[in-house]
Amino acid sequence: MDLQLDMFDIINTKNDIPDKEIPTYIKLKDNQSWCPYCSKPVIFIKDQAHGIRRCPYCNISDKDYSVKMVNNRWL
Ligand SMILES: [Zn+2]
Repeated sequence: MDLQLDMFDIINTKNDIPDKEIPTYIKLKDNQSWCPYCSKPVIFIKDQAHGIRRCPYCNISDKDYSVKMVNNRWL
C-alpha cells in the first residue's frame, strides 16, 4: 500500500494551500489557466459528463473558488 501512496503523490502534486496569484514571471497562453493546486500552467480539460472543465493533473474543476480567484475568472 505504501507504493501506491507514493505513486499517488508523484502524479498529484496537489498543494495544501492553493496559490493566491500567478507568479509574475509566468506568461499564460490563451488556452491556459493557472492551476493553483499544481502551481503550473494547465489546459483545463472539458468534462462532458459534468459540464465543467478540470485540471488534467489534480482533477480540480474550474468552478473551484481558488481556481477562479487566481485566474480572475468569475463568469
Ligand atoms: Zn491542478
